[in-house]
Amino acid sequence: MPASADRPLLLTPGPLTTAPATRQALDRDWGSRDPAFIALNAQMRNRLVSIAGGEGTHVCVPIQGSGTFAVEAAIGTLVPRQGKALVLVNGAYGRRMARILEYLGRDYATYETAEDAPPDPEGVDAALAADAAATHVLAVHCETTSGILNPIDAIAEVTAARGRRLLVDAMSAFGALRLDARRTPFDAVMASANKCLEGVPGMAFVVVRRDALEAAAGNAHSLSLDLHDQWTAMEGNGQWRFTPPTQVLAAFNRALDLFADEGGITGRHDRYAENCRVLIDGMRALGFETFLGDDVQAPIIVTFHAPADPRYAFDAFYDGLRRRGYAIYPGKLTAADTFRMGCIGHLDADDMRGAVAAVAEVVEDMGVTRRGRAT
Ligand SMILES: *Cc1c(COP(=O)(O)O)cnc(C)c1O
Repeated sequence: MPASADRPLLLTPGPLTTAPATRQALDRDWGSRDPAFIALNAQMRNRLVSIAGGEGTHVCVPIQGSGTFAVEAAIGTLVPRQGKALVLVNGAYGRRMARILEYLGRDYATYETAEDAPPDPEGVDAALAADAAATHVLAVHCETTSGILNPIDAIAEVTAARGRRLLVDAMSAFGALRLDARRTPFDAVMASANKCLEGVPGMAFVVVRRDALEAAAGNAHSLSLDLHDQWTAMEGNGQWRFTPPTQVLAAFNRALDLFADEGGITGRHDRYAENCRVLIDGMRALGFETFLGDDVQAPIIVTFHAPADPRYAFDAFYDGLRRRGYAIYPGKLTAADTFRMGCIGHLDADDMRGAVAAVAEVVEDMGVTRRGRAT
């Protein structure tokens, strides 16, 4: 689809560009207690369990709202009131989980690394060895703040070896970066409809180990965010407890058809990896520098250093791209002046080439010639 100012392509971490078929699925009403909607809901939940490799061990509990609602619901339901979490932080989303624990009044500690450094599994192991009270490890799969890939399999291994339980915020990874319960031990993975699965915003979900959820009755601090209550009610009659975002679910289930047609995680990953390569190669050819090393860059969103040239200003850069039909994202790092361009959503390599061509025009117009980082 060609980019245009009134229908921009979203090179963001979500909400994302969606397929026309997904948006068309919004175009009907559903009764939330209607058998057709109950069947749609059941199909969606089964598909999400299967993407996580959790058939027979895990269940899917959907929840209204954005991704943070699922993260807060999972933490509040699964970390017992007398439990303690070790939160792995290398960006804003790790910090957000610590903030949620603060709100909930649950005990926690953090294991922090720099924004361009993944947590070291041996360091996590040592932190767990030194903290017998920690019952849960909370980790982010792809930390969208920078786009860094965290070593989730190795983290899961040390967590399980120490007899602790793992909750993974895989919001910007689920469906594109494999996290398979048959291989990688985790209690819960949290994600939302509107990232790599390319649905529209409005619902999120948790794929959670059934026995961990069964043991979590009464933990939750909140009725609307009680995953155990949401699950037992849904198992009983197939329905959501409170008004579900019906059209959002219909669009999500359609997006999951497209996901299967594309070849599931492998197909989705390969398209995003190609998008990411085209974007990085094109931007480097223009003189831009990436914040992360290629060895830790996930094919999800790329952080670029703001150009050193004094004629560069993010707002003018953004407006120039936006007029050409590309919406980018500001940086979110505490360490450096940056901007971000996503490679996820219903976008292909030609879209990425179009975005790079638009960047070339805009920096030319702005007279930005020194495009590397300020030193
Ligand atoms: C997008 C995202 C979230 C959730 O953000 P919402 O704005 O609540 O949807 C959480 N964690 C990560 C890593 C994300 O990328």
